[in-house]
Amino acid sequence: MNNSRDFLTEIVYPDGIERSAVGKVPAKQPDKITKGAYRLSSAILSLVRAGYKIEKINMDGLKPPYILLANHMQFMDFAMLFRATYPHKVNVVAAFNVFHLFPKIMEKAGCICTHKFTTDTALVRSCKKVLKEYGDVFCMYPEARYTPDGTQSVLPDAIGKLVKKNGVPLVVMLNHGNYLNLPFWADYTYRKSPFNATVKQVLTAEQVESMTVDEINAVIREEMTYDDFKWQKDNNIIIKHKKRAEGLHKVLYQCPACNTEHKMNTKGIHLFCEECGKKWEMTTLGELKALNGETEFSHIPDWYKWERENVRNELLQGKYSYKEEVEIVSQPNVNDYVPLGKGVVTHDLENGFVIEGHYNGHDYRIARPTKGLYSLHIEYGFNQLEGADCFEISTTNDSFYCMTKKKDIVTKLALATEEAFKIANE
Ligand SMILES: [Zn+2]
Repeated sequence: MNNSRDFLTEIVYPDGIERSAVGKVPAKQPDKITKGAYRLSSAILSLVRAGYKIEKINMDGLKPPYILLANHMQFMDFAMLFRATYPHKVNVVAAFNVFHLFPKIMEKAGCICTHKFTTDTALVRSCKKVLKEYGDVFCMYPEARYTPDGTQSVLPDAIGKLVKKNGVPLVVMLNHGNYLNLPFWADYTYRKSPFNATVKQVLTAEQVESMTVDEINAVIREEMTYDDFKWQKDNNIIIKHKKRAEGLHKVLYQCPACNTEHKMNTKGIHLFCEECGKKWEMTTLGELKALNGETEFSHIPDWYKWERENVRNELLQGKYSYKEEVEIVSQPNVNDYVPLGKGVVTHDLENGFVIEGHYNGHDYRIARPTKGLYSLHIEYGFNQLEGADCFEISTTNDSFYCMTKKKDIVTKLALATEEAFKIANE
């Protein structure tokens, strides 16, 4: 690392660009917003051609305050949430890029704004306020990202601590089918697939009281386990969408036939490798079938898991590193995306992520060491930033979107972040 120059570790913005919102105490949700969110969600869900279903388990007589954790697959998760929890008021934790879409209404609704994958002590205070003072529901999507392969992402240990600290019941809302309806990688083409959710009280206040943080985390991990492709097969959900494979190469970026990375592509119902020419069909049941020779992985999450193992081995053997000059856009507040120009990003096991650049007359250096970053927010063709593939590095008071030019690199970066975190903390 270059230690010979002085770098600012925080961006200095020109006048007129304010930092905002982190640490702001959420408002008590007004009745009309609770009702409005319910009505709007019901109206949207009534348009879902394949229908929706919400099953409640151990929820009889349960009134707020409680903590609700849900898995995250797409925007419709919110409609299911407000439909499922009405008439209770729910304060939802949302990232800056979500807040950016409807800042005024989200602030009024008592949403809590945070930068992803940071240690946010203000969030702990906001949670206490919602539960103890307002007596409402505190809702988090602890994966803090849409699932790439339809299975659960990494869950931070801090969640168990938050539950233990507040001593209220814990509810888990598990969505199924939302991913199948609109896979994260599918470029906004919806499929005909139903939305199903279970809303389950997994721990009573008394159980939370008597358990350790580790025990609570074990319950959370077990209850938040899901696999939407398995759910599709178990429930015989037939998806005939003619472009159902398109975009899948963003997740399945490595060919299992020739091991080449970043040369996969998709068209229609097919996934193929541009290096060795091997081709797979995505069936109407969401399985993969090789058109010639062996089918290495019929279950998509198994392929993703194999890529993860390969990245882990690269890290362990000292072969993994990433460096690229990228366009960077920051988000110091919910209203502004601020172009910072070009910067150089490096990622490796030893140093984690480091961004170096020059903005507004100052050199800056933003670092997120490996040990403290358990996952990475990535976007495929991010519609808020000119359709670029990007990844986001946050600090407690800023977010940096790095727009990569490399083909299908962001999934690998996310896997490398998660595996490097595990290796560094082992
Ligand atoms: Zn190949």
